[in-house]
Amino acid sequence: MTTAIDPDIGAREALRLLGPDPDNWVPDRLDIDHNVTIIGGSGTGSVFAFALRRAGIGHVTVIDAAEDEVHAGLWLNRARMNKLRTPKNLPGPELGIPALSFQAWYEARHGIEAYEAIDRIPRVLWAEYLSWYRQFLGIQVRYGTRLVRIEPADGFLRLHLEVNGEPKVETSRKVILGNGVGGGGGPYIPTVLSKNLPRHLYAHTADAIDFAALQGKTVAVLGGAASAFDAAGVALEAGAKAVHLFARRSAIASVPVIRVRGYPGAYDNYPSVSDEARWFQAWRFRQAGSTPPPDAIERVIKFPNFHLHLAAPWTSVEERHGQIISYVNGETFEFDFAIAGTGYFVDPVARPELADFSQHILRWRDRYQPPADLRDDELGAYPYLGRGHEYQEKEPGTAPYLKNIHVYNPTGFVSFGLPIGDIPSIKRDVPAVVSRISHDLFFEDWDHHQTRITGDIAPDFEDSLYAAAVWKQNVGALVS
Ligand SMILES: Cc1cc2nc3c(=O)[nH]c(=O)nc-3n(C[C@H](O)[C@H](O)[C@H](O)COP(=O)(O)OP(=O)(O)OC[C@H]3O[C@@H](n4cnc5c(N)ncnc54)[C@H](O)[C@@H]3O)c2cc1C
Repeated sequence: MTTAIDPDIGAREALRLLGPDPDNWVPDRLDIDHNVTIIGGSGTGSVFAFALRRAGIGHVTVIDAAEDEVHAGLWLNRARMNKLRTPKNLPGPELGIPALSFQAWYEARHGIEAYEAIDRIPRVLWAEYLSWYRQFLGIQVRYGTRLVRIEPADGFLRLHLEVNGEPKVETSRKVILGNGVGGGGGPYIPTVLSKNLPRHLYAHTADAIDFAALQGKTVAVLGGAASAFDAAGVALEAGAKAVHLFARRSAIASVPVIRVRGYPGAYDNYPSVSDEARWFQAWRFRQAGSTPPPDAIERVIKFPNFHLHLAAPWTSVEERHGQIISYVNGETFEFDFAIAGTGYFVDPVARPELADFSQHILRWRDRYQPPADLRDDELGAYPYLGRGHEYQEKEPGTAPYLKNIHVYNPTGFVSFGLPIGDIPSIKRDVPAVVSRISHDLFFEDWDHHQTRITGDIAPDFEDSLYAAAVWKQNVGALVS
């Protein structure tokens, strides 16, 4: 009889050696339901739940608008690539505990050779790993719970929620927005589409798209980055008659400018880099463009009915008899459906949950004026975040509660040099946020903690323990 090996044995042993979670050290307050509320229960929310627990911060709740785990997060829903875009060996949710890493999880189930054989992490397996991470670490996510409004109150935040459609108000001292790529603004839909076409004729890659319905159809995809190629790939695999991808640039972006600043010195110290240099790096990225992985391009070019149009922005389009008629560079095209793979914008004013105070949020444009040749209004709209990823006030003193909202989505790109929320951000930025939350909660209750740390302490032993050995002075005698 063979005994199955428990794949979690290593992870269990790692937690045993780590020791028990610290007790919650944050004192309860009568009017407060949660010390920290995490908005979004996918990867980011789960990692923060674990990190805060290990920091001894209790009364943390994680909410997610999705009905259940399968519908939450990006990985099994709006992500359409076969493999993650990021390298397989980046530090991530394990937070420095190797046995909780994707690699350990994968090798325990499939073997060391199997891990060596994969070049990047299959997307569906990443979702499976995150599900295991939540279950193994006992992270509870309250699904069906949507944040609709953050209302500042006296020393805390009042959170207006919809719980399975019903309104509910809860209070929290801190909020972490782990609400995904669109969480700082929303999907960017070119006005040429939104102004001229009825909504049923186009979608954004952030939408749930019925690709099966595109079988036999002629499809336009706008955009030249990874999501555009992924959508084109799925449409072709679903049997589209033809897919035309229109990119504004004259060549597909192929220079990953962020990669060169991934070495530890640049990565660790980036938040201390001057505003001028951080702006230049963000501007440089925008000039270079977001690069699709080569396999996303290979996936589509093997189809003879895939057509790539370069230097081909859509400027004029109309609906005629239920079809999309598009005029591009002097040519006229007819499509059944269009997909905007045009990315996301960042603007807190567009977020309903921030409506009470979005005008008070400090932006990059309030803080830094670039030279004329480096101007970029979209980058200027990004919030200028503090070291703990907290919003800051445009006018000091007008909205002090902003420091209690920690933003963990691509809103942090200009401030931190990475799309925050992506796996590469975890190692540096999750500890930075947790450390700031710990700091703020501790010093807000300083009187309590001062009493606690100066309180009466029972001695570990009585003087009698060593009394017999205490030297008894013997003046005049020879001591040996
Ligand atoms: C197509 C695509 C591919 C990507 N590929 C990679 C990759 O390969 N590697 C990488 O590192 N990054 C990648 N990214 C970036 C990616 O978004 C993040 O790595 C990852 O999704 C971040 O996890 P998250 O938990 O922050 O966000 P998500 O996985 O998007 O989860 C956000 C959660 O917040 C919930 N939510 C949102 N608003 C509310 C609300 N008001 N109330 C309650 N809940 C709410 C949502 O329901 C959702 O479950 C990709 C992004 C896209 C769009």
